[in-house]
Formats: sequence, C-alpha cells, structure tokens
Amino acid sequence: MASTPNVHVKLLMITPDAVGHIARCARVSHRSEADSGPEADAALVRKLIRWGHLSVLEFAHATFLIEGLSRACANQLTRHRLASFVQESQRYVDVRDRPIVLPETLANGPWREDVEGLYDNAQSLYERLVADGIPKEDARYVLPIGAETQLVMDVNFREARHIISLRGTQHAQWEIRALARELLHKLTDAAPAVFEDLEVTS
Ligand SMILES: Cc1cc2nc3c(=O)[nH]c(=O)nc-3n(C[C@H](O)[C@H](O)[C@H](O)COP(=O)(O)OP(=O)(O)OC[C@H]3O[C@@H](n4cnc5c(N)ncnc54)[C@H](O)[C@@H]3O)c2cc1C
Repeated sequence: MASTPNVHVKLLMITPDAVGHIARCARVSHRSEADSGPEADAALVRKLIRWGHLSVLEFAHATFLIEGLSRACANQLTRHRLASFVQESQRYVDVRDRPIVLPETLANGPWREDVEGLYDNAQSLYERLVADGIPKEDARYVLPIGAETQLVMDVNFREARHIISLRGTQHAQWEIRALARELLHKLTDAAPAVFEDLEVTS
C-alpha cells in the first residue's frame, strides 16, 4: 500500500532552449531579431505572458513519465484535452502487484483496517480470476480506483500553465495538486521565464 501522495514525475523530453525558441517564433510578428539573446528572450516571454499573448507558448512542449498516480487521479488528468497521453493498459498488463494509493483520511483513521482488508480481497480475487482464465480486461473490474497506474503525458507550455493553474489550487484534490507541484518544479527548472509566476498551494 502506498502512502500519499506517491506520484513521481520524470521529464523525458523538452524543447531545447525553449524560452529562446518561443521568443524567436514570437519575434516573427514584429521582425525584431536584433534584440535576441538569453536575457532579451526571457524578458520578451515574460512580457508576452503579462499581455496574455499565450499562443506563442504552444511552440514549446515537454513529455513526462508520471508514475505512482491513482487511477482516480489519472481520470482527472486525462480530462485535459490538449495534452496527449499514453496510459498503462489493464487489458494487457497483469497488475496483480500494483500498489494502492491510500488517502491520509483512510490511512490515519479508524477505517484503515477495513480499507486494507477490502484492497487485499480485491487483489486476491483479481489473481484468482486471472488464474481461472478470466481475461485481464474483465478481471480488472474488481480492482479499486486507488490502484496505481503510469502515464506518459506530452503537453505544450500553454496547456501546461493551464493544467498547473487549475490543478494547483485548494479547489483541486491533494493528489493532482501534488502532481501539479512536481510538474511546475520540473518546468520552472527548465524554462523559468514561462513558469516562475505560477504557484501550487500546499
Ligand atoms: C477543482 C475541479 C473540480 C472539477 N470537478 C469536476 C466534476 O465534478 N465533474 C467533471 O466532469 N469535471 C470536473 N472537473 C474537470 C473540468 O470540468 C475540466 O474537464 C478539466 O478541468 C479540463 O479543463 P479544461 O476543459 O479547461 O481544459 P483542457 O481540456 O485542458 O483545455 C484547455 C482549454 O482549451 C479550450 N478548449 C478545449 N477544448 C475546447 C472545446 N471543445 N471548445 C472550446 N474550448 C476548448 C478551453 O479554453 C480550455 O480551458 C473539475 C476540475 C477542477 C479543476
């Protein structure tokens, strides 16, 4: 059973010199190549963000491997239609040993024993169904929504800002907020001028 939050984010790919690339593309509109260079590029990108000229952020993107996320949270993440996803298949992959994400309220309260019992029963029934020849795609129906999954997400910088802004507030659930925090951390490291004005509430 995994404690919460258990999400792990790995940056697989990002547009090289993303800030410079965005600035180069944006300058086409004004034919102002003369001002280029890392500092001028960052200043231009910050200005474009302040002005709300966000379409230029679509020229840069990043690909992440996201592990240790519950299927409940993956359902929330994949609602973001402008990102691209690949998710581990429960039809083809045997997920008998997949950990379960356990929310604090269940892990630290009087319900822990009941919840763990339910999860153990579900895992054990899944194993018996698969062993009895039930296809994995049908056996998976007995698994809890807290079961861990993994995804690859490719997202452009404009949509990444949108996801982090929506999912990084107190209105969003703790697990997707933790994910938003990880994404923001990785993206701010790589492209500070694009992401440094965002924050995720704890
Ligand atoms: C706190 C919170 C609670 C939520 N609760 C629920 C819930 O109870 N039930 C539920 O079903 N969902 C819920 N959602 C999900 C929410 O409704 C959205 O589906 C999800 O956040 C994706 O947001 P989006 O549509 O803005 O973004 P994306 O799909 O990431 O799209 C980005 C932006 O592109 C534009 N866009 C994309 N597609 C279109 C289109 N077809 N037409 C016009 N513009 C488009 C919009 O401007 C959109 O904001 C919740 C989300 C949050 C953050």
